[in-house]
Amino acid sequence: MALVTVTIDGQTVQVPAGTSVLDAARSIGIKIPALCHDPDLTPVGACRLCVVEIENMRNLPASCVTTCTEGMVIRTNTEKVIEARRTILELLIANHPLDCLTCEKSGSCLLQEYCYEYGVTSDIYAGEKHSYPIEDSNPFYLRDMNKCIVCGRCIRACEEIVGRSILDFAYRGFNTKVGPFMDTPIGESECVYCGSCVAVCPTGALTEKNMVGKGRKWEAKKVKTVCPYCGTGCTIDLNIKDGKVIGVTGNPDGDVNGRFLCVKGRFGYQFIHSDKRLKTPLIKKDGVFKEATWDEALGLVASKLKEVKEKSGPDSIGFLSSARCTNEENYLLNKFARAVVGTNNIDHCARL
Ligand code: SF4
Ligand code: SF4
Ligand code: SF4
Repeated sequence: MALVTVTIDGQTVQVPAGTSVLDAARSIGIKIPALCHDPDLTPVGACRLCVVEIENMRNLPASCVTTCTEGMVIRTNTEKVIEARRTILELLIANHPLDCLTCEKSGSCLLQEYCYEYGVTSDIYAGEKHSYPIEDSNPFYLRDMNKCIVCGRCIRACEEIVGRSILDFAYRGFNTKVGPFMDTPIGESECVYCGSCVAVCPTGALTEKNMVGKGRKWEAKKVKTVCPYCGTGCTIDLNIKDGKVIGVTGNPDGDVNGRFLCVKGRFGYQFIHSDKRLKTPLIKKDGVFKEATWDEALGLVASKLKEVKEKSGPDSIGFLSSARCTNEENYLLNKFARAVVGTNNIDHCARL
């Protein structure tokens, strides 16, 4: 692969041709703020927060959409750059609600983080503000378009990752708003509620309903596991606080899925703490299920299998396995069918 050599803040680095200035800087630990940029999505250079100074270039180019070329000399933290970023943040918060005290995203909001870092403390361009009602038209996530900074990450995630293209920019200028076709409520759109838009939103504009009030995102301990729903085997992080699962997020390093999940994997975790969940085996006696011990339940299954095998032969028994089980569990069932019971009658839902 062809390499190019650039100098960033005095450090010389070689990167593959085609690398953006933003990625080159981040690869050597130089922090550049960016709101519309997401490593999983096409860069668009919309928020302009990632501007840098490049020798022999006019103006301040957005580093996420500027490609490194041989010999480029880049400076990421000059007075001019800092001033430009501060102005962009001031303009962004000019019509922002600034209710960080109660905002679900507080502590993990990029807008809040950058305003803190750049010392943007008040909205010096105070003027008209939006007062959209919070949209609550679906069971899974809330949309507060007053906190939307029109970065377009949700639009690109829905189009590029999910392939649904539910969202786009509507209206123009100050009234620009993200939403489904004809600005209908999400609940009336073709949204499949995968929550990918929620996962990439840098502010509190999109929040998962079930997590509201359960704790700050950064307070949750993340425990890596596999989604229990299908054979795709997405890697998920259980978000745990005070011993309870308060949410599920895609694991960024998950080979299958990264941060992205389907509606079941992301939102279908309430069964974990449901009081309707079965905690002991049940054995039907006189038509009624009664709680039993594992020894009783397994003993009953073993005796019934033995009885059927002795009476009608091993091939009168069949085993159905599931893609929800791990490979190891499926392997064990296969071994049990063939080696213990003595039949090859074993099938799996994922075979079809
Ligand atoms: S979205 Fe971010 S900046 Fe806006 S109120 Fe919430 S935490 Fe504060
Ligand atoms: S939940 Fe999924 S399908 Fe619906 S708008 Fe968001 S990304 Fe698109
Ligand atoms: S809803 Fe979130 S991700 Fe979508 S444009 Fe607004 S701030 Fe960006």
